[in-house]
Amino acid sequence: MAIPDEPDAGGTTDPQDELRQIAAQARAHLAALGEKRLTRVLRAAAPVVSVAAAASGVSAVSAARVVSAVGAAGGVSAAGGVSPAGVVSAARVVSAARVVSAALVQVREELGDCRRCKLHATRTQIVFGAGSESAPLVFVGEAPGASEDEQGLPFVGDAGQLLTRMIEAMGWRRETVYITNILKCRPPGNRNPEPDEVAECEPFLARQLGVLAPRVVVALGKFAAQSLLRTDATISSLRGRFHEVQGIPLMPTYHPAYLLRTPSAKKQVWEDLQLVMAELERLGVRAPA
Ligand code: SF4
Repeated sequence: MAIPDEPDAGGTTDPQDELRQIAAQARAHLAALGEKRLTRVLRAAAPVVSVAAAASGVSAVSAARVVSAVGAAGGVSAAGGVSPAGVVSAARVVSAARVVSAALVQVREELGDCRRCKLHATRTQIVFGAGSESAPLVFVGEAPGASEDEQGLPFVGDAGQLLTRMIEAMGWRRETVYITNILKCRPPGNRNPEPDEVAECEPFLARQLGVLAPRVVVALGKFAAQSLLRTDATISSLRGRFHEVQGIPLMPTYHPAYLLRTPSAKKQVWEDLQLVMAELERLGVRAPA
């Protein structure tokens, strides 16, 4: 006889049993994590969770919990959270990842061919964000530059290459984190973002973070840190310690573009990134192999 809450050693071929097992495992995992992250994911992803759940036959709450569990684990095996024994199959993880992906697609669709601020008139294209949709680690910069505006991807110029090296120095790969900006369109001549532009664009970043539900956010540069933390404090006074955005630990640090101009600041950035690495380790999150 199978022990309650333990997977049937012989496996099951009943889809409903299998779905009940997924929900039970996710619930157990969430009980350990607390419901805070679930609330955030549900708020951000509720519409698509309902659609995806209806399509798959899983209840919306169960689907959201699976999403939350997978997001929390940063990939099931990374944190060893849902099932070290591999009880949660690859197919289930893919299903949960699809819910996150669908939620992110919905945010992008709602942004649409955005003309909410004056930057739409001078951009080549919107730069929404790029990377892993199950990333436990998210980097947020200020705004696209010329290369990003041209390619439609964040951090692909010289500063982006330095960011890639920073990520790799942390033991991660660029494709295993998620990278985006406060503004999704390039300010002309790379001028500073203006308050009305930030006010119009930032809600979409908030929704991205709500869907991704990362474990740690790194704010790159003064504008990203000030916007996310709603403060006028200087980046030098904010960096070096964790703050919080949407319930997620946030580490402000200098922008890679600043490091290209001021290489002596690399030491401080490395100190900040080491704090991020320590926090991820404390949370049981490891870089994917
Ligand atoms: S910067 Fe943001 S709010 Fe402004 S047009 Fe681009 S996407 Fe829309």
